[in-house]
Amino acid sequence: MTTTDIPRPGPGEVLVKITATSICGTDLHIYQWDPWAAGRVEPPLIMGHEFAGEVVALGEEVDTLKVGDHVSAETHIVCGVCYQCRSGQAHICQDVSIIGVDRPGCFAEYVVIPQRNAWLNPPEMPDEVASVQEPFGNAVHTALSTDLVGKAVLVAGCGSIGLMAIGIAKAAGAALVIATEVVPYRIDLARAMGADLVLNPRETDVVTEITTCTRGTGIDVLLEMSGNPSAIHEGFSVLRRGGYAALLGIPAQPVEFDLANEVVFKGATVYGVTGRLVWKTWYQTRALLDSGAVDVKPIITHRLPLEEFEAGMELMRTGQCGKVVLFP
Ligand code: ZN
Repeated sequence: MTTTDIPRPGPGEVLVKITATSICGTDLHIYQWDPWAAGRVEPPLIMGHEFAGEVVALGEEVDTLKVGDHVSAETHIVCGVCYQCRSGQAHICQDVSIIGVDRPGCFAEYVVIPQRNAWLNPPEMPDEVASVQEPFGNAVHTALSTDLVGKAVLVAGCGSIGLMAIGIAKAAGAALVIATEVVPYRIDLARAMGADLVLNPRETDVVTEITTCTRGTGIDVLLEMSGNPSAIHEGFSVLRRGGYAALLGIPAQPVEFDLANEVVFKGATVYGVTGRLVWKTWYQTRALLDSGAVDVKPIITHRLPLEEFEAGMELMRTGQCGKVVLFP
């Protein structure tokens, strides 16, 4: 914990006073200073990117926000001029800058964000719910990248985004939502979010169980949230011919994979998920939360003062938590 000056918003930017900020898996990677973080992040840097807050100062040329507005942020600041940005794929911008990774983040009392990245929250939305809209958006992007109505869906890995995806898949009309997870605490959360069946790969043969409960057909849709090589393999093993897989989990190393049998001969479709669709995902997120179609509150398991971020990181490391929210 250290002290720094309150940042000043530049042209087109606003200063936000943080009311709640939640810990993401990315933050844990940076905190633990793993090879990815060491290769990407230039310290010293204020980390953190999921937040809710209130606009307290405007830079020059700000015309879409006013002091007192409640906001969260799309954390990927995109260039707006590359091929992807100009062809409706800004979420995979070639020159992205990420809050809390490439520029100062929100594990602080204040953060500066561009006005075009602000997402206006209803004042009555609880701060902790507003803060988790960003990861909820990752889950929305993943789950709603295909039609789930009447489908058998496997959510592999029940970290926060996996847990959110369970609720979204149910709300989207999936007929059967199966989840896999090894941490008992998160298995309970998966049930609380409405999973029809939760399997622990350390205790059961996941492939046999899923094959049986889908009457030999396999699952229609795989939502891969773990990045774990054996979970990826099991997920594709039970994916039916012609099935669809959306991959969000990030393996720590390159994964050996039977591309011929698990994708090509199966006629499977595979989609890689990066961030949120700008801004389609945010509108879907707002609709799902506002309507009550998905309740994220069971996932928000821990609330700590910002000063106790180390305890929050420890909870994240052990998996004994859903979402950990910090309050400055
Ligand atoms: Zn771009």
